Amino acid sequence: MDAQPTDTAPDRDVPDPAAPAGTAPDIDPPAGTVLDRAVGAVLGSAAGDALGAGYEFGPPLPDDAPVGMVGGGTFTWAPGEWTDDTSMAVPVLQALARGASLDDDRTLDAVVDAWCGWAVDAKDVGNQTRAVLGGLAPRTAEAARRSARAFHDAHGRSGGNGSLMRTGPVALAYLGDGREDALARAARAVSELTHTEDDAGDACVLWSLAVRHAIRTGVADVRVGLPWLPPARREPWAVRIADAEARRPRDFERNGWVVEALQAAWSAITHGTTLVDALERAVRGGRDTDTVAAIAGALVGARDGASAVPAAWRTVLHGWPGLDATALTDLASRAVRR
Ligand SMILES: [Mg+2]
Repeated sequence: MDAQPTDTAPDRDVPDPAAPAGTAPDIDPPAGTVLDRAVGAVLGSAAGDALGAGYEFGPPLPDDAPVGMVGGGTFTWAPGEWTDDTSMAVPVLQALARGASLDDDRTLDAVVDAWCGWAVDAKDVGNQTRAVLGGLAPRTAEAARRSARAFHDAHGRSGGNGSLMRTGPVALAYLGDGREDALARAARAVSELTHTEDDAGDACVLWSLAVRHAIRTGVADVRVGLPWLPPARREPWAVRIADAEARRPRDFERNGWVVEALQAAWSAITHGTTLVDALERAVRGGRDTDTVAAIAGALVGARDGASAVPAAWRTVLHGWPGLDATALTDLASRAVRR
């Protein structure tokens, strides 16, 4: 990491004044507030995940094909049920909601332990994640990083999209002024629990900083994180971002790869007119539909807020570990206020 703003801020952020303290967690934050957008990063991702769940592994769909929160698919999801993308984000969100710091390896230990517990009987654990977490002992961050490095060394790569898909909540703990460097480090640290490859960590840094910026400003701009990448990797990522804007989600056929998953998600956002339109475009891109839509949903949700997630979707959203949209709203609200 080259020179970045010195991080002298307290470990946890003071909530933005636009997010009124004391709002009951089960009451929707007012539209257009920082809190609405912070909750939107979580609900948007969960909604995209559940929307795409029934279409996973399918081909690209025509532009006018209807896309619905219908469940089904390879894993016979219930309507509104989220998948591994959100399930793996939840332990991170829970940690932040209880005031834990991602800079503390004990927090990452708890996240790894929760992931291992989830993976025991989850029906859709990704290949790379299963290889890293399966049989992990002890269930600690250091053991996970070691396992991830072993996977990387054995396969020569570890650039699956499985860490980008769960990075949305990380930004919620770093919304304060001057917290970009700390967020970049945390995003990469959470990524490296399962994914060693630089591209995976870089993608999480870029997306997390974009989510933070969108929550603070209401503007989605994936380029804001480029200065927080190692210098040699900024230009290649700038080219990839421009390429995403010039093409459609369906053009990124290898969207199980973290790079094309990010490109497909960014393409869906830049060409979409609304949160719903962006998520539908992500799903119509085909293949890893739930993950691309979950990634897109974190950023477009941060831009437009939880208030932009249709009530009909929020009503049916649910998933591991027995949570619903109200519970996610509660957790996200607490994460911001810690
Ligand atoms: Mg999934």
